[in-house]
Parts: sequence; C-alpha cells; structure tokens
Amino acid sequence: MIKAMIFLDGTWIYANTPRLAEIYGKADFHLDFGKLPEVLAQSVTQQLHHIPVDVVRTHLFGSYAANYDLRDEEAVQRRLDFFDLLREEYHYEVQIFPINFRGRRLRRADRDPRDNFEPREKCVDISLATSMLYYAAIPHAYDIAIAVLGDLDFKPMLQAVRHLGKRVALASIRGACAPEFSETTDAARVRDYDIIWLDDLLQELELKYESHQRECESPNHKGERWVWTTFHPRKGQRFYCDACRSMFAREKQEAQEEFVSSEVDQDWHAVGDMESGPSLRGEIKKKVTDRGFGFIAADDGHDYFFHFTDLEPGADFVDVREGEEVIFEVKRRPSALKAGAAQRVRRPDDIGNH
Ligand SMILES: [Zn+2]
Repeated sequence: MIKAMIFLDGTWIYANTPRLAEIYGKADFHLDFGKLPEVLAQSVTQQLHHIPVDVVRTHLFGSYAANYDLRDEEAVQRRLDFFDLLREEYHYEVQIFPINFRGRRLRRADRDPRDNFEPREKCVDISLATSMLYYAAIPHAYDIAIAVLGDLDFKPMLQAVRHLGKRVALASIRGACAPEFSETTDAARVRDYDIIWLDDLLQELELKYESHQRECESPNHKGERWVWTTFHPRKGQRFYCDACRSMFAREKQEAQEEFVSSEVDQDWHAVGDMESGPSLRGEIKKKVTDRGFGFIAADDGHDYFFHFTDLEPGADFVDVREGEEVIFEVKRRPSALKAGAAQRVRRPDDIGNH
C-alpha cells in the first residue's frame, strides 16, 4: 500500500470553480469535496499500474473575509460553514487565514469604483508549502504528495519535495495551470506522473445535492415552515431557510444603520484595523425584542451589535436580559461611525457548545 497526502490550494480551487462549471456546461456545478480525495487516489492508482493508494490525510489551505461590510455576512458565513463541513464531515485538515477587508464589500463590483483597495491574502501559499515539506521530512508520513494547484509559485516546493525522495502527483485545471507544470517533457521536474486534469473528472466530481425537507427554526419565518433544502445542519446548529437568511442580512444592515450612529462613543481613535476574533466581555445594553437584535456595551468601551442569529447555539434570544453579562467574539471592529458586531454571544457560565 502506498501512502498519499493531498494538499489543496483552496483559494485557487474556489477561484476556478466557475471555469469548471463552464467546461462541464452547468452553471450550478459544485465540486464534491467528499469524493475528491478518493477520485484523486484512483487516478494515481491507474498510473501506478493498479497498486492501491491510501490517502492518509487531505489538507486544504484557504482564506476567509474578516472586518467586512455586514451586507456580505451571509456569503462569509457560508464560506465558514463550508470549511466546518470539510473538517467535520470529510475529515480534512483545514488551515484558513483571514483577509482584512477594512469594512469593505467583498466584491469589487460592490465597492466604490474610486476605491483602490486590494484585499490581500496572507500566509496561504506559504502554509501549503511548509506543510508539504514538513511532512516530506517526517519519515513515512507519505510516499506521494498529491498537489492540487496551478500557480507557478509552488514550483520550488514541488522540486524540493522530490529532492527529499518523495513522489509528486499534480492535479490541476486546464487554463488555470502554469504552462511549465503541464509540459509533456516536464523540464522543470515538478512531478512524477502525468498531470491529472480535474476537468476530465467532472462526471465523478460533481456534487449531487440531496434535497430534503427541513423545518425553518426562525421565529420570524413566514409561511410554511417545512422547506426544501440541501443544507445539513451540524450538531447544535440551527436551520434557517434561505428566505430567512437573506432577510436577517437585510435586517441587520438596517438595524445597524438606524440605531448606531447616535449611540457611538465619539472618543474613538484606533480605527478598526484589527482582525476579527478576540473574545470580549460586556453587558447587554439594549434589546429590541420585536426585531430580534440588541447591543452590548463591551469592556473595551465600545458598543457591539448582535442579531439573535449571533447567539451561541443553544442560547435563546428570549432569555437574553438587558443588564446581564455576556462574553462574545468580535465579528467586526467598531469604527468611528459604527458600532462593532458581535458573534458567538453567550453567558460567561455557558462553556462552548452543548
Ligand atoms: Zn425561514
């Protein structure tokens, strides 16, 4: 049995999924990440004249937006949910890094055309390279590295892994692959096998959604609660239908714009340039019961907005009381004009998920 480890450039795959959809001729094409490791292993097996290949670990490296405009919250949350799915359901090793959007929209088309802001991805490529080399240097961790990428930046890594005596299989996408990687002569000496084109494997890699009915758990849901969905909530996670999710996104935006500017402390100096994530303590300052949101006066002297969907799973909005103490994570830092936004809001005595 030959041991393989897979290393996926998640950002590259994300960026090129529309290309795959176009090749496949289906606009809503999605890759089945549950099947991907096995499909890649089979491709390598065929090239090894049917010696079986065992995938011992699949690593994915990617990024997520931090400090973004709250109108994009749903898109960000979907991406984070996707990474959780990879970890929990498919047992991927996922390493993700924040991209600081400095309060901006995610898509350039949604930003001011005069704004020359460029989001910068940090650490992703280096993290992939470090990991592939690290495991290459550990005896018996893997025999073959299956790299799923296309960027020429990875050339020294592929060469170094081969210098360490490991074999490299390269999977890529036509039109999104550095020409040096796909040359038939492999003059750059980056791989040991014929390149695996994901575009040739789309039949096997297409995600076939299993649609089923679920009950929307939003108290503000309108109409029939049982809706068709492809979403599978994980432990402790509530299910909200697509209609409710987009309504929450609109409501949050409106609520923030309407309530916040008058309430913000004007002594604000350090403009929100930090990444999201740190935990803070605070007190529920205001609860707008009928609209399902509130504000926390935090120990850092700033106010943080929260929606009932920002409560930790298991916590109920009806139980939240003004004046009670909570802890939360910063989803978005406050700015001079806007309160921050909170997530994973919970009582100090509630430890983690139940
Ligand atoms: Zn709903």
